[in-house]
Amino acid sequence: MSAPKYHLTSYGCQMNKLDSELVESRLRQRGYVAATDEGEADVVLLNTCSVRQHAEDRVWSRLGKLRIRKRSEPGLVVGVLGCMAQEHQRYLLTRMPHVDLVVGPSAFGDIDDTVERARSKNAEVAAARAATHHTRGKRDVAGAGVVATGIGVSGDTIVRDVRVRPHKSQAFVSVMRGCNMPCTYCIVPTTRGDEVSRPIAQIVDEAERLCGDGVTEITLLGQTVNAYGRDLGDGVTLAALLAALHEIPALRRLAFITSHPNFLSPDLIAAMAALPKVARYLHLPVQSGSNRVLKAMRRGYTTERYLARVEGLLAAAPDFELHSDFIVGYPGETAQDFDDSAALLERVRYAQSYVFQYSPRPGTLAAELPDDVPREEKERRNQVLLALQERICLDKHKALVGSVQEVLVEGPSPREPGRLTGRTVHHRIVHFDVPAGGTDLAGRYVPVRIERALAHSLVGSALRETDAEEAAVPQRERATPA
Ligand code: SAM
Ligand code: SF4
Repeated sequence: MSAPKYHLTSYGCQMNKLDSELVESRLRQRGYVAATDEGEADVVLLNTCSVRQHAEDRVWSRLGKLRIRKRSEPGLVVGVLGCMAQEHQRYLLTRMPHVDLVVGPSAFGDIDDTVERARSKNAEVAAARAATHHTRGKRDVAGAGVVATGIGVSGDTIVRDVRVRPHKSQAFVSVMRGCNMPCTYCIVPTTRGDEVSRPIAQIVDEAERLCGDGVTEITLLGQTVNAYGRDLGDGVTLAALLAALHEIPALRRLAFITSHPNFLSPDLIAAMAALPKVARYLHLPVQSGSNRVLKAMRRGYTTERYLARVEGLLAAAPDFELHSDFIVGYPGETAQDFDDSAALLERVRYAQSYVFQYSPRPGTLAAELPDDVPREEKERRNQVLLALQERICLDKHKALVGSVQEVLVEGPSPREPGRLTGRTVHHRIVHFDVPAGGTDLAGRYVPVRIERALAHSLVGSALRETDAEEAAVPQRERATPA
């Protein structure tokens, strides 16, 4: 009998992508193989996101199509994993009978057993149907109804199979789950529960195993990653974790996302400045440039306090770049509030910003307020911020033309396979031509001379070994951003 095939789609944040890797590793250990096409899979899994309505809509639409397919394939297993499984479990079980599995983000530890149970239940249904020449009816799409949700048990308790990862030299490591912050618009604390940090020793062990398998760049993940450790006590902090990981000889770059402005502490700033392997960017979402809106969002800081923290960081480590998230169209956001966001974006001169149109999430405090900024106006504000951000990016990129950047090569450029793509220590994307006689450079750190600036990336040429030695000035001296 051939091995059963699965097809897994991940929506949303990096945390979800990492959870998906975990799910895949469990299934592969159990003998499953990845299907290249969803149509040939015996098990179709959707690892979902609830942060905005748009992400949920995409999943509802996929489920509609799977319902049709399941009418003719009763053995097919359809699974909804992640935040929507947690948030909509009742609806999925009562109104979507073709869904076999509903597995919340904290219940991935034994996902292979859960999938197996659903497969054998469906096989029984399919056999019974074949035996009775059952005609089509509502029960044809009845799912196995296997549920595993609940908050608190973490997938991180399982020993990770470090060989399952998309890039040979880069890996994500989850250091904490959940979130304790009271942001009025956000569904994450509901779907992912309270903050739970992993012990330092467990994280270092995982990082060492990853580095032993060829990883040189690690990105630590947490919803408020710089609050890491506060539930553990004993003075465990992100600064201490960074220092511990820094000792791993094979590790060359260490990044962490996403930070909350309230936890950008002096000891963390000192660690970021002092530890040369720490990547030189900080994702520190501000959400709004208006104190009135920040207060309504319950973000817990003012723009003045935010800017003071950023200035503190840049005074200690001037080579850092800031990244941000903005929400436009929060209930009651006036034209002036929005202008304040635009002004703050200009003032900080972020290297990158994600801009989100406010999307009411049922059950959150903000969802009780009128969603009073019209859709077209949200769209306009979104475009204005994006255009501003693009201009700033382009200016910063132009200032880098002529410089040499150390690029960690990820592989062929997705749009131009003749070129290679990688990232700088500031997380900038660089495309460059494959050098003559080019060997497989994926996973290597290559010096690239920047020749052209685009809004979202840089274009350059790889230096030959001899030129590279000549240009071998420490990275941070050359890469100072505009
Ligand atoms: N924990 C991180 C933080 O506090 O910045 C980010 C986590 S959240 C999943 C990612 C981003 O989604 C947030 O920074 C916010 O900008 C955006 N977001 C969250 N809820 C939203 C909502 N209801 N509507 C629009 N954007 C939202
Ligand atoms: Fe959501 Fe706020 Fe927690 Fe970020 S800090 S995950 S925006 S509640």
